[in-house]
Amino acid sequence: SPRVDDDYEVLELIGRGSFGSVRKVRRRSDSKLLVRKEIQYGHMNPKERSQLVSEFRILSELNHPNIVQYIHHSHIPEHHLLYLYMEYCDGGDLSNIIKSYKKSNEYLPENIIWDIFTQILMALYKCHYGENIPLIKNIYQDFDYPNTNDQTRVIIHRDIKPDNIFLANGNFKLGDFGLAKSLNNEVEFASTCVGTPYYMSPEVLLDRPYSPLCDIWSLGCVIYELCALHPPFQAKTHLQLQKKIQTGIFPPIPDHYSSALKSVITRCIQVDLNLRSSSFELLQLINFKIQMKDIQ
Ligand code: ADP
Ligand code: MG
Repeated sequence: SPRVDDDYEVLELIGRGSFGSVRKVRRRSDSKLLVRKEIQYGHMNPKERSQLVSEFRILSELNHPNIVQYIHHSHIPEHHLLYLYMEYCDGGDLSNIIKSYKKSNEYLPENIIWDIFTQILMALYKCHYGENIPLIKNIYQDFDYPNTNDQTRVIIHRDIKPDNIFLANGNFKLGDFGLAKSLNNEVEFASTCVGTPYYMSPEVLLDRPYSPLCDIWSLGCVIYELCALHPPFQAKTHLQLQKKIQTGIFPPIPDHYSSALKSVITRCIQVDLNLRSSSFELLQLINFKIQMKDIQ
């Protein structure tokens, strides 16, 4: 392999992602373990390449304990390669956790599900609102910001699913960030068609204009799956799945989970955007619930 980036010792291949391979590496300066996404951009046109660059800039500015930390990137022009260095998550991802519970015929404890929900909501809040606190009177409108300026950047993940939520030192972290968005529509479409779009919101499926609320739908589907150990919408064919998603009707989660948990899932999985809660509203709701518990 080419001798590039001598600052890192190359360790094992973790997996092959849709845009290249993912490798474990060790930073020589401090022996810290990182992952390196190796992105081949040779086939991309100039527009796609500039999208990729702007996406890297967004990523590099995202700093949050519940977001897989971007660390550094390097460019190897002679190989048409971009190396994206990120925090290594040693605890695997949520899809593994779901599989292991399913295998042992057990359900996840409710407190763990709330923990995952809260942590990923905080990550989404950071993406959707940045440093801005929305005005209270605006919370029932879609993304009305108090002071829209250059600092305001709305980041929509668009690919929230169990495989993109990682576990590191007991913290859940949203990963695989924006890469899908940084690429062209063809690639997006292709990658959408490779897997089954279990977590995709109706407006995204229908190619309608989307807002950060599409992430909330997907998060609702993930939380549902943590409860039921299967996604809320399942079907034999792509078309049947699409139809089910558009109805927004899903089977109930197992009985032993609380009505509060059922209710937040329902607030996320709403076809009508006016009825779907924002990350801000959901965090307020959870805060209220925690405060009530303290009082009682
Ligand atoms: P895809 O692009 O197909 O979604 P990814 O690039 O997300 O694939 O990931 C490929 C593999 O690398 C997966 O097995 C994933 O779990 C693993 N992986 C990706 N990012 C990290 C990370 N930060 N820490 C640990 N493993 C990771
Ligand atoms: Mg992924």
